[in-house]
Amino acid sequence: MSNTHSSHLRRRDAAVRKLVVERVGREWCLFLDRDGVLNRQIVGDYVRTWGDFEWLPRASLALKMLAEWAPHVVVVTNQQGIGKGLMSAEDVAAIHQRLRAELAADGVLIDAFQVCPHLTSAECGCRKPRAGLVLDWLRQHPDSEPCLSIMVGDSQSDLELAHNVAEASGGCAGIQIGSGTGRGAVVDASFDSLWDFAVAVGRAIGEEDLLCSP
Ligand SMILES: [Mg+2]
Ligand SMILES: [Zn+2]
Repeated sequence: MSNTHSSHLRRRDAAVRKLVVERVGREWCLFLDRDGVLNRQIVGDYVRTWGDFEWLPRASLALKMLAEWAPHVVVVTNQQGIGKGLMSAEDVAAIHQRLRAELAADGVLIDAFQVCPHLTSAECGCRKPRAGLVLDWLRQHPDSEPCLSIMVGDSQSDLELAHNVAEASGGCAGIQIGSGTGRGAVVDASFDSLWDFAVAVGRAIGEEDLLCSP
């Protein structure tokens, strides 16, 4: 391992430790993008039915680990295919119902699925990177501290979303999954997969437990 590589990993571990330490005993929400984070992105098309939904390797286990850490977990997803008429809002809701049921059977609770169904051209306030999907949820859940929010996503717009939420609410960490484009986006840490992020969080929690034990 080169020095540059190991110092990058040290910085990343430190960033994750900070995320963990700052949130101990607090009420906050982990916001997750869906396609490319939980399930395989279908290039040039949409996940139109449950049959199209393909979990990324160990993503559901990662979600289970992260849900044990985060008091709230919310999926935020642009589904422009609805606006294009390729699928209905009910089709997407049905997919999320199946997803929720599958996870619930494993003891994992997803607080909400926040979906933007609009076309880019609609210029709505909820299509990522605009902050509407996140801010709506935060407004409805005043117990959750907005500035402790974390946004996890694989695309530039997810990281811009984190930035936009931070502008509006005083803070929001951005975690990048996959190599992505990352053009100049502010990222607190990046990982190859949701699983790698969950492992880093688990390690940081373990270290904190050691520090806190008598
Ligand atoms: Mg994505
Ligand atoms: Zn929208």
